[in-house]
Amino acid sequence: MNLLELNHVEKSFENLSVLKDISISIGEGEIVSIIGPSGSGKSTLLRCATMLEKMDGGEIVYLGKKAAWTDKDGHVVYADKKDMKEIRSQYGLVFQNFNLFPHYSVLKNIVDAPIHVQKRDKETVYQEARELLKKMGLADKEDYYPCQLSGGQCQRVAIARALALNPKILFFDEPTSALDPELTAEVLKVIRSLADLNIAMVIVTHEMAFARDISHRVIFMEGGVIVEEGTPEKVFASDNERMRSFLGRYG
Ligand code: ADP
Ligand code: MG
Repeated sequence: MNLLELNHVEKSFENLSVLKDISISIGEGEIVSIIGPSGSGKSTLLRCATMLEKMDGGEIVYLGKKAAWTDKDGHVVYADKKDMKEIRSQYGLVFQNFNLFPHYSVLKNIVDAPIHVQKRDKETVYQEARELLKKMGLADKEDYYPCQLSGGQCQRVAIARALALNPKILFFDEPTSALDPELTAEVLKVIRSLADLNIAMVIVTHEMAFARDISHRVIFMEGGVIVEEGTPEKVFASDNERMRSFLGRYG
C-alpha cells in the first residue's frame, strides 16, 4: 500500500491556478525530491498534502485512509477530527525557517508534542529525544535556546523534533535555503543519514546534486504541473526544453 496518494489535486489563489491536476504517490521508505522554479507551486503542494492549506479539488489518502476527497457536488471534504488526528501522526514537516518555539529550550522543542499531543510516556520521550540530539550532533545543546544556535543547528533541531513524532513520511520544504553553504552541508548530511531509517521523505530543494544523489525519484514542477518525473538519471538527462532551461539556471 502507498504511504501517500495525492490524486488530481487542484488549488487556486483568487484567479491564480497554482496546482493543476497534480497526482503523486509515495511508497514506503521512498525518497522523492521535488524541484522546479520559484513560484511553480512546490510549497503549496506540500502545504496541501499536509493539510496546512485547503485544496479546491482532488483526493488525499494516507495509508489507504482518506484524509480529503471531493464530493459529488465538487466540494472538498476533510476527514473528521478523530481520523485526522491519526492521519496527522503519519507525517512530519520541516520548514525552510525551522519554526522552532523561541521560548523553549532545544530539548523542550523536541519533547513537547510527543508528550502533550501524542500523550506518550515522558521518560521514554526524553530518552528518545536525547538519542535524536546525539544523532544530530547536538548532544551538548539540549539546554540552549534557538536564538543561541546557528541556522544549521536550528534546522537539525527541527529535524529531530519532526523525527520524535515517529512519522512514516517526512516533508522538507527547502530545508537549506535559509542557510550559508557550510551550514547547508551539515544539514544535508543529516538528511542523508535518515535514508537508512526507512522513513519516506519528500524533499523540495534547489540542491540539485543532493537531489540527484539521494532520491529514488525526482519530480520537476513548473507552473503548477508535473513536467517530468522519474529516476534522477532520467529526469536530469531529460531533453525537455523547460527542464533544460531550469537546470541551466539552478543545476
Ligand atoms: P514555490 O514553493 O514553488 O516557490 P509556491 O507554492 O510558494 O511556489 O507559490 C506558487 C504560487 O502561488 C506563487 O505564484 C505564489 O505567489 C502563489 N501563492 C502562494 N501562496 C499564496 C497565498 N497564500 N495567497 C496568494 N497566492 C499565493
Ligand atoms: Mg516554496
